[in-house]
Amino acid sequence: MKYQPKASHFIDGEYVEDTNGAPIDVIYPATGEVIARLHSATPEIVNKALNSAKQAQAEWAAMSGTERGRVLRRAADIMRDRNYELSVLETHDTGKPLQETLVADATSGADALEYFGGLTASLTGEHIPLGGGDFVYTIREALGVCVGIGAWNYPTQIACWKGAPALACGNTMVFKPSETTPLSALKVAEILIEAGAPKGVYNVVQGYGDVGALLVTDPRVAKVSLTGSVPTGRKVYAAAADGMKHVTMELGGKSPMIVFDDANIENAVSGAILGNFYSSGQVCSNGTRVFVQKGIKEAFLARLSERLATAKIGDPLDEDINFGPMVSENQMNIALSYVEKGKAEGARLVFGGARIAVDGFYMQPTVFADVTDNMTIAREEIFGPVMSVLDFDTEEEVLARANDTEFGLAAGVFTNDLTRAHRIVAGFEAGTCYINTYNLAPVEAPFGGSKMSGVGRENSKLAINHFSEMKTVYVSMNDVEAPY
Ligand code: NDP
Repeated sequence: MKYQPKASHFIDGEYVEDTNGAPIDVIYPATGEVIARLHSATPEIVNKALNSAKQAQAEWAAMSGTERGRVLRRAADIMRDRNYELSVLETHDTGKPLQETLVADATSGADALEYFGGLTASLTGEHIPLGGGDFVYTIREALGVCVGIGAWNYPTQIACWKGAPALACGNTMVFKPSETTPLSALKVAEILIEAGAPKGVYNVVQGYGDVGALLVTDPRVAKVSLTGSVPTGRKVYAAAADGMKHVTMELGGKSPMIVFDDANIENAVSGAILGNFYSSGQVCSNGTRVFVQKGIKEAFLARLSERLATAKIGDPLDEDINFGPMVSENQMNIALSYVEKGKAEGARLVFGGARIAVDGFYMQPTVFADVTDNMTIAREEIFGPVMSVLDFDTEEEVLARANDTEFGLAAGVFTNDLTRAHRIVAGFEAGTCYINTYNLAPVEAPFGGSKMSGVGRENSKLAINHFSEMKTVYVSMNDVEAPY
């Protein structure tokens, strides 16, 4: 098969197979062709991976920050050198156009490895002077073995966004990719070894949700970082709580994007396109509820439709193509079923709405107008290329409606009124906000959600606090006084 890896899992520095695990067929979404067959991890494989991570951790944490950082930065360089090859693999795994994967996947993973590799040498505690000469110092310590569990939309990026800060802090990791996209995390593990990571520092096990559940409940695990849906997040958070484990939850959203009538319409349309159709709409932070002020609604819709008609849909390996298939037949059918719900509940279909009759899991970029707040398409995360356009009159009204959701991942506003832009973002109930742009996630900036969209932050210096803890050391310079 075209992309058959040496084996399903990567443990203790090498590929490991166990064909007793349930088969996982990897399907190229553009054609439906099976490109690799892997096997889900058996309990023995999970045990082996956790033992390896546990054993490797002390040695890895004992290395100087400079040494650990060098490994991560070397890995970043290797990823960049192999960007083309890794991007072709990512396109096969996910169906996302090569035009996207060349700039948003291994490159983003490399950014995380480079950024956290750069921080590693300066991770420290602090000195806190107290009265009478006593003082406290704090030691920043690794948590131990961390488990990373990934969604299928950005498999390379997720493997690195979790692995890089975890390893920077001296932890080791067992990463379980989504079974829909299991290939690229194996490459990340290979590259880390090539860059000089000791064996066992970064392991990959394949599997369905049951493998994830096994990892999350294991007493050897100190921390769980999940990227996935809210229902999975609830289960994983609860299971982790039982063992009092640290968690980071990067979950779903139904984010608002507000376009005021003074906005630059061309930029707002670009933002709406990026925030709804990049990666065929399979992005957690997408601004899928686009609130457009009434005065410019028809102009906005007309320009949006005009530009969507120029999307180049087709073979994702053709670098000219900018809109690819969805990740799986199942995900496409879910998105198509929401199109039916939108129509049935009275929304006006202004663009797309259908499956595209070629091999593979393609559907058209789809826009509904006249969507109201209670329609299913305005309330539930679709995770596909379906945009809802809602009308509004006033700032106060739109902010309340934008926040009227259980989710709080991202939110954006397009306006040329400076003070209004800042008032709106101050009022947004969301972890990641945008003014006059949408969906950018550079490694330097914290990324994550509030409300049901998650707990904790990825990227930026903040991620360090989620992968390390402080030990407090009180030092007395005086005699000990006791009451009796
Ligand atoms: P799922 O929640 O279905 O799965 C996420 C991961 O969790 C998968 O690897 C899955 O394995 C695993 N899993 C499932 N059940 C359990 C369990 N009980 N214990 C441990 N692990 C489990 O999400 P999808 O893969 O369908 O991804 C789409 C979702 O991810 C969307 O809601 C999206 O918004 C969100 N997402 C959030 C991002 C963020 O940063 N906030 C970024 C990207 C996506 P398996 O696949 O084998 O079931």
